[in-house]
Amino acid sequence: MRQDPFGGGNRRQPGRAPRRRFGMRFIVLLLFAGYGAYYYFSNQSVDPVTGENVLIDRSLDVKQEKALGLEAYQEILGQERPVDPDSEISKEVRLIAERLIAKVDVVEAELAREHGLEPTRFSETFEWEVNVLESDQANAFCLPGGKMAVYTGLIPVAKNADALAVVMGHEIAHALLRHGAQRMAQQKLTQVGQMAGAMSGMDPQQQKMVMAAMGYGYLLPYARKHETEADNVGLMLAAAACFDPREAVPLWQRMSEASGGQAPPEFSSTHPNPGTRIQTLEALMPKALEYRAKFCEDAQGETATALR
Ligand SMILES: [Zn+2]
Repeated sequence: MRQDPFGGGNRRQPGRAPRRRFGMRFIVLLLFAGYGAYYYFSNQSVDPVTGENVLIDRSLDVKQEKALGLEAYQEILGQERPVDPDSEISKEVRLIAERLIAKVDVVEAELAREHGLEPTRFSETFEWEVNVLESDQANAFCLPGGKMAVYTGLIPVAKNADALAVVMGHEIAHALLRHGAQRMAQQKLTQVGQMAGAMSGMDPQQQKMVMAAMGYGYLLPYARKHETEADNVGLMLAAAACFDPREAVPLWQRMSEASGGQAPPEFSSTHPNPGTRIQTLEALMPKALEYRAKFCEDAQGETATALR
């Protein structure tokens, strides 16, 4: 007996109706798959910094992305408790951010050169800003457009300026590499898939299974890839800005200890195994030290400064 692969809803109905229904479903799925493929292939570009093919909606320009980042930032600042910008810790965090930002151009250009590509200089339009937010979370973020925040819960885990610079470099890298815009494009594709499932008459249970498979097979690996890219570019930024990249390894050890094996949201869902992250960072260390020697004007004698 022939089994309807898209649902058992009409298995009980004999006659020709199910066959025709199957035909319709197939056409609907085919149309959506066609649109999905068109969307996927027509919105591909190469990120010069990573040398990777990326999916970013061409209709989303940098200005819009920046506006979205700014909107989200204001919303967050309205909900959270920003620390006095004149406090010691705010000044210190601002100083670290300034040093990292000053090296964005050279690091982008150098990484692009390694892939034989020209940097996009996408971040030239950024209006950088950093605030410290009162919270127990050991976390930080940088939104498209350069709006950043460091949560006070990160300070005792970072312990020193070098480690904090590694985390902030990681966050800046997410914004530089347009990971937010890439996630938006992936979400759009996911929605196309959901609509296809719903309109072809797939039952909710099957739709759930397909979405879960997409999550594991497509979205999660992407998120992990983004984390690795941000670790890589962030480490080079920190090194070029004269911070000690070697602090990255004990930092991520402390991060996983501090959270009892469960890292804060930004770092966890995507990196179930902190050991892998540390291995990756260790492998990147020789290159990071080269960047430090090459781009940090006074690489000699710098040591980890403790955060107050
Ligand atoms: Zn991240």
